[in-house]
Amino acid sequence: MKKMVERLRKKGITLTPQRMAIVEYMLNSMGHPTVDDIYDEIKKRYPTMSKATVYSTLKLLSDIGEIQELSIRKRGKACFDPIPHLHHHFLCKNCGKVINVELNCPGDCPILAAEEIDGNSIEEIQAYMYGLCSNCRD
Ligand SMILES: [Zn+2]
Ligand SMILES: [Zn+2]
Repeated sequence: MKKMVERLRKKGITLTPQRMAIVEYMLNSMGHPTVDDIYDEIKKRYPTMSKATVYSTLKLLSDIGEIQELSIRKRGKACFDPIPHLHHHFLCKNCGKVINVELNCPGDCPILAAEEIDGNSIEEIQAYMYGLCSNCRD
């Protein structure tokens, strides 16, 4: 948390209390929250917070590589990931939970064994898997 705040300050980003609250929420969230998830939580403490502020702060953080926006859709909405490095995701089609899948790429990755497809060299793969999570299977 402290390190990220230091990095943001070094990059000349002004951390208003509202922005700080968003950064804090992201760093403590193990799930992959959507703008709505974050907004609903933070407006309890900052009633003047707008969804636009949440979105622009997330956009800023992902532009500088501190977090990433996933292209997987959680209940139809974009979700954000506090882990900026490449990893795979599993989306539960029943409860909508997005779970990290820790496979080493390229090490464990069967697709990357190809290294090249039709003359195009592959440098990274981000996989999205869909199915039922362990809770929903019961
Ligand atoms: Zn589930
Ligand atoms: Zn993730």
